[in-house]
Amino acid sequence: MSNCLFCKIVDKEIDSDIVYEDEHVIAFNDTNPQAPLHILIIPRKHIATINDIDVADTILLGNLFLAARNIAQQLGVDKNGYRVVMNCNRDAGQTVFHLHLHFLAGRPLHWPPG
Ligand code: 5GP
Ligand code: ZN
Repeated sequence: MSNCLFCKIVDKEIDSDIVYEDEHVIAFNDTNPQAPLHILIIPRKHIATINDIDVADTILLGNLFLAARNIAQQLGVDKNGYRVVMNCNRDAGQTVFHLHLHFLAGRPLHWPPG
């Protein structure tokens, strides 16, 4: 997708603070962090929302969670805990329409979210 912000981050056309990358997934710090650690984990492939996921993407989705697990271990928050969140469309507050898992950690997180 030529006009997608996160595709441009994947293609390194736009700078980001990358904390993890592999064949399927790239992860970088959120520019407006909501916790001491706030990382966005995204597939390299453009998928706009959860509504656009195809059955062929199921392994790719698993890779987002494996990346979250690896990042948590790498940053030493796996034991204390962390949260992963994916917003879908307006009511959830999605603003970037390239699938992304928010990874939040480094403080106690409230529940339920606002
Ligand atoms: P959403 O609201 O769609 O679930 O989350 C989008 C996230 O992307 C927000 O947390 C926002 O701060 C982050 N974001 C928006 N633009 C950029 C950017 O150019 N670079 C980075 N690293 N994060 C961004
Ligand atoms: Zn995209």
